[in-house]
Amino acid sequence: MASYDVIIIGSGPGGYVCAIRCAQLGLKTAVVEGRETLGGTCLNVGCIPSKALLHASHMLHEAEHNFAKMGLKGKSPSVDWKQMLAYKDDVIGQNTKGIEFLFKKNKIDWLKGWGSIPEVGKVKVGDETHEAKNIIIASGSESSSLPGVEIDEKVVVTSTGALELPKVPKTMVVIGAGVIGLEMGSVYARLGSEVTVVEYLDAITPGMDGEVQKSFQRTLKKQGIKFVMGAAVQSVEALKTKAKVNYKLRKDDSEHQLDADVVLVATGRKPYVDGLGLDSLGVEMTERGQIKTDDHWQTNIKGVYAIGDAIEGPMLAHKAEDEGMAVACVLAGQHGHVNYNVIPGVIYTHPEVANVGQTEENLKDQGRAYKVGKFSFMGNGRAKANFAGDGFVKILADKETDRILGAHIIGPMAGDLIHEICVAMEFGASAEDLALTCHAHPTYSEAVREAALACGDGPIHS
Ligand SMILES: Cc1cc2nc3c(=O)[nH]c(=O)nc-3n(C[C@H](O)[C@H](O)[C@H](O)COP(=O)(O)OP(=O)(O)OC[C@H]3O[C@@H](n4cnc5c(N)ncnc54)[C@H](O)[C@@H]3O)c2cc1C
Repeated sequence: MASYDVIIIGSGPGGYVCAIRCAQLGLKTAVVEGRETLGGTCLNVGCIPSKALLHASHMLHEAEHNFAKMGLKGKSPSVDWKQMLAYKDDVIGQNTKGIEFLFKKNKIDWLKGWGSIPEVGKVKVGDETHEAKNIIIASGSESSSLPGVEIDEKVVVTSTGALELPKVPKTMVVIGAGVIGLEMGSVYARLGSEVTVVEYLDAITPGMDGEVQKSFQRTLKKQGIKFVMGAAVQSVEALKTKAKVNYKLRKDDSEHQLDADVVLVATGRKPYVDGLGLDSLGVEMTERGQIKTDDHWQTNIKGVYAIGDAIEGPMLAHKAEDEGMAVACVLAGQHGHVNYNVIPGVIYTHPEVANVGQTEENLKDQGRAYKVGKFSFMGNGRAKANFAGDGFVKILADKETDRILGAHIIGPMAGDLIHEICVAMEFGASAEDLALTCHAHPTYSEAVREAALACGDGPIHS
């Protein structure tokens, strides 16, 4: 039996970042991980592999659609799916081994196996029980399904199955127009699949700024993705190599059917807390099955903390990481900081979509006086040169104080551009502060400055 200051259960972005920070702050740290490799959902079957496939399929799209326009002629590349999967697996391997290296460098023990908490201060892994002054649950999440839909990870798949299909399907139905469904749908649409997204609501990407939702859906349609909106999936019949999706349109209850080679169920994720022994420990949960925590990420049981997808808040890797760093600081007697008002969200399609802070819809609901500064990428020289003029930057600022309240970007590198606004918001900046900041030319970030100018006396290039 070994004894630690901290044992963390789960090595995803929440767990591994927390472990590194704990070790850096002088705490004797171990991480329990049941998977063969470190890095959790994010590195193994989430953020990283999906971005590798998005990148490869985007390159194909560029070659097919834009190379000739720039005078780059020749045969378009064809898809070697096996090689694309090997590239994706290599990217995963480099990242997960990188975490192993960081664990060794920081003298963090990897306790291999599935862990449980038999009592406060103890973590059981296999036959061994270890002592810990503090236990942090970072056990993440798993895909959720729908009643009447059975996942076999062959024909009816979650995102995990969609990352390793044996071949590119001719037809794919994606159930759910959220981030994961649209990213994976984009990958397969670019690789030649006929993709239909079936969504229960009337708008894609729930919770996102309404104007961006509409523009994003229009762009995806132009890329060949079909949408069936307001459709409640009743069941999916899996045959050997095909599936039938039965759905009802909510507006008139009419029944319909779609055939597909592969059905991707992307209806969301739920916390994964199986086998941890939380019931017998008496850990309080929310109605949605998340672990309840206080302002310091401590559960109702002293010395037991929880972070990441297993607790409330957006299920995002960087939110888990920030909580991991913050709880490490708390355990080391420092102040743990997570600003939940400034957590960016990104969709890595092409164009990318990114947002932070309030939407116009939220501000209207709150009855708050605000102004909108908007700038189209059509007025951005760099975007024009790169065939990336689709989309816009929209900044929302307080009408009286000019303080930035939120930002929404659809366009090139939106996922990177959003961070200048995050930093500005973290510092309580006004739109004018951004507008007065010199931005290099020609960059996409000039569109952010122009949107900030549009909150004041007006943009220059529109
Ligand atoms: C396809 C896909 C794409 C995504 N893309 C993005 C993206 O681009 N950006 C983004 O921010 N987020 C993305 N996400 C979400 C992101 O992956 C999660 O928000 C993030 O991984 C959560 O981190 P975590 O540390 O809470 O848990 P996880 O990453 O889920 O890690 C939890 C780990 O705990 C281990 N574990 C669980 N229980 C035990 C136990 N009892 N004993 C031992 N080990 C245990 C699991 O094996 C797992 O490895 C994506 C998710 C998916 C599925």
